[in-house]
Amino acid sequence: MNPLPTKLETLAIHGGVPVRAKLLPYGRQSIDAVDIQAVVEVLKSDWLTTGPKIGEFEEKFAEWVGARHAVSFSSGTAALHGAAFAAGLGPGDEAITTPMTFCATANCVLYQGATPVFADVSPDTLNLDPGAVTRKLTSKTKAVIAVDYAGHPAALDELGRLAKEHGALLIEDACHALGAESRGKRVGGIADMTAFSFHPVKHLTTGEGGMVTTNDAGLAETLRRFRNHGISSEARERQQAGQWFYEMVLLGFNYRLTDIACALGLSQLERLDANLARRREIAAQYNAAFASLPGVTVPAVREGVNPAWHLYPIRLKLETLTAGRGEVFRALRAENLGVNVHYIPVHQHPYYRELFQSGTSSRLSYPVAEDAYERLISLPMFHSMTAQDVEDVIHAVGKVLEHYEKRVVGR
Ligand SMILES: *Cc1c(COP(=O)(O)O)cnc(C)c1O
Repeated sequence: MNPLPTKLETLAIHGGVPVRAKLLPYGRQSIDAVDIQAVVEVLKSDWLTTGPKIGEFEEKFAEWVGARHAVSFSSGTAALHGAAFAAGLGPGDEAITTPMTFCATANCVLYQGATPVFADVSPDTLNLDPGAVTRKLTSKTKAVIAVDYAGHPAALDELGRLAKEHGALLIEDACHALGAESRGKRVGGIADMTAFSFHPVKHLTTGEGGMVTTNDAGLAETLRRFRNHGISSEARERQQAGQWFYEMVLLGFNYRLTDIACALGLSQLERLDANLARRREIAAQYNAAFASLPGVTVPAVREGVNPAWHLYPIRLKLETLTAGRGEVFRALRAENLGVNVHYIPVHQHPYYRELFQSGTSSRLSYPVAEDAYERLISLPMFHSMTAQDVEDVIHAVGKVLEHYEKRVVGR
């Protein structure tokens, strides 16, 4: 059957019947009985935090992504802060990053007293454009922070080479991209450091949580200390050794992930392959359905890349539509699709506008990111979507887009 409407239906925003009776969110966790059991067992054990589940989760996670080391954090934001610290970012240093991301990617640079420098994105993937990065590299550049937007890996090989040539590190914000592959390799073992988030809308959840993976033992050690007040050994190790002595060797934070959270993470990791497969299946169904819609551009996938599909962002071809993104968005919401927009470019937030006003004289302009922002709508995408959910999204998008299509008179 063809779920696309064959004749114009009255939009819910105009008083018609919505495609769905209940709102379908854009992202959502899935927790099963095995997850619950795993958490309950930890609650009954001796260690609620800094116990055996942490090491177990880190080890299994590192193995799954193909990295030598994994260091857990209390959130993806804390993980990014750890990576910025381990990269040695400090006052006077610069880190080049993308405006097309969640603000935490750039905030971690500010936490370290360093300066985020934005570079524009490539028009197809909306990932950091290596050409734009080249133009922003200076003797102050200490890190390049790439984001795998929507789950499509950034140009990691090129960015890694550029960073290395300038004595900088490549930090990958892979909060969208757990399980994404670039040239047959999973993200996590490619960049100098890769940060992940376990927020409930992401591929795997621990409630709040994050991880940094790296192949560098020195960076891993620094990350471990940073997340534990800068202390050089952990409480349980000391207890096992019967020691009281510890040393604080750097100024760290309490960014530890609990054993309760790690037990949930371990349990969720077991289903990650199946969840990724489901997201890829949904993306394929969306791609097939929307290819015939003249008003939208579907997400690009570059050769050699297998995205993880955290998001499925469509871009409106505004030139072919009678309404702007705002109205299309409201119409989709009225059909009970929990659509969203990722992202308001970071440099356009008031905090960043003010920050840069006093700094550089040239107006900050990132035309590719800014143009994309005017067109983007993220459709529901999560692994526990049912066949009916997917069909509803396809139906609603077709219904709304068809309504706003510019028609040639007499067609
Ligand atoms: C989710 C996310 C973060 C932050 O992760 P938290 O776990 O919510 O702190 C950072 N960067 C990107 C791109 C994200 O999507």
